[in-house]
Amino acid sequence: MKAPPFAYVRAATLGDVFSLWAQAGPDARLLAGGQSLLAALAFRLSEPTTLIDISRVPELAGISAVGDGIRVGALTTHAEIAASADVQKAAPALAEAAMLIGDPAVRSRGTIGGNIAHADPASDLPTVLVALDARIVAVGASGERTIGADGFFTGIMSTALAENEVVTAIVVPAAPRGQGSAYVKFPHPASRYAVIGVAAAVTMANNECSAARVALGGLLPHATRATAVERALTGKSLDTATIASAAAQVASDLGGEVTGDIFASAEYRAAVAPGVCRPRRHTAAHGRLARALWCASRRSPRWCARSIGV
Ligand SMILES: Cc1cc2nc3c(=O)[nH]c(=O)nc-3n(C[C@H](O)[C@H](O)[C@H](O)COP(=O)(O)OP(=O)(O)OC[C@H]3O[C@@H](n4cnc5c(N)ncnc54)[C@H](O)[C@@H]3O)c2cc1C
Repeated sequence: MKAPPFAYVRAATLGDVFSLWAQAGPDARLLAGGQSLLAALAFRLSEPTTLIDISRVPELAGISAVGDGIRVGALTTHAEIAASADVQKAAPALAEAAMLIGDPAVRSRGTIGGNIAHADPASDLPTVLVALDARIVAVGASGERTIGADGFFTGIMSTALAENEVVTAIVVPAAPRGQGSAYVKFPHPASRYAVIGVAAAVTMANNECSAARVALGGLLPHATRATAVERALTGKSLDTATIASAAAQVASDLGGEVTGDIFASAEYRAAVAPGVCRPRRHTAAHGRLARALWCASRRSPRWCARSIGV
């Protein structure tokens, strides 16, 4: 199908975005890398009157150090994140997930801001940002505010962003001493979207897990923390048996609510993913989760990606 007709304007500054939005009215949409929006237009899933191109707005660009971590501008592409030494050091799971997105063309055009604003449940970055306790910085009519990644994703393609609010940056806290993080997915073979994605940030002290944040993607309407898994890890020494038994707790975190989408039906996911109902079986979700936990606890995310051949 062809996209419906629309007007196109390009913003030069963040201030421009808001004045163009005010002129264009409520049916205008922001255009960043276009990797999701242009497909939505072609399928007539979205029919905006105007596209406001934000891809050259300088306030949304760049990766920089901030007080407690790194600030990743909304326009930073997946390829830039994957290649950034600062991201690799402060948030290895984020670099890892960016490296696993789609293909080189998608990674060189798609942006972190567009990825999270689009909020596809099968996207990789929301899962990682929830596990890393990241903060989303948004600017709208009432000024700037910060939203925890935990509360940002509210449903299938739905977020806490207010009307006419722009994601300007994502702030990822630097990994504290002893923390490792990893991201592992079971990708759709064509698009590489996550049929199942799991991200873990595990802090080790005196050979014990002192803190864990674990998030699941692809299985529920939005990226969600696996708090039962986290509880099963905390205070334990993370040997293979403990990790396997903690990963099996994912059944209680999913609560039987696995969803389907155009890439994999609920029935398919229910069949391959949440073997969590039978935790002793080594199944897709259980296996991926255990591997992410193992990699995070040993701080070897690169090994993680290689080990699953992606
Ligand atoms: C073939 C293919 C494979 C893919 N595989 C994967 C994959 O494996 N994993 C994965 O995670 N993703 C995947 N994607 C999606 C990709 O990551 C996109 O980059 C991302 O979903 C959207 O980013 P974008 O910059 O292209 O946003 P756009 O398409 O330009 O915009 C998407 C939406 O976000 C809004 N938006 C954009 N920027 C902002 C902002 N700063 N503030 C507020 N709203 C904003 C737009 O208005 C629009 O509604 C794939 C895409 C394609 C085409």
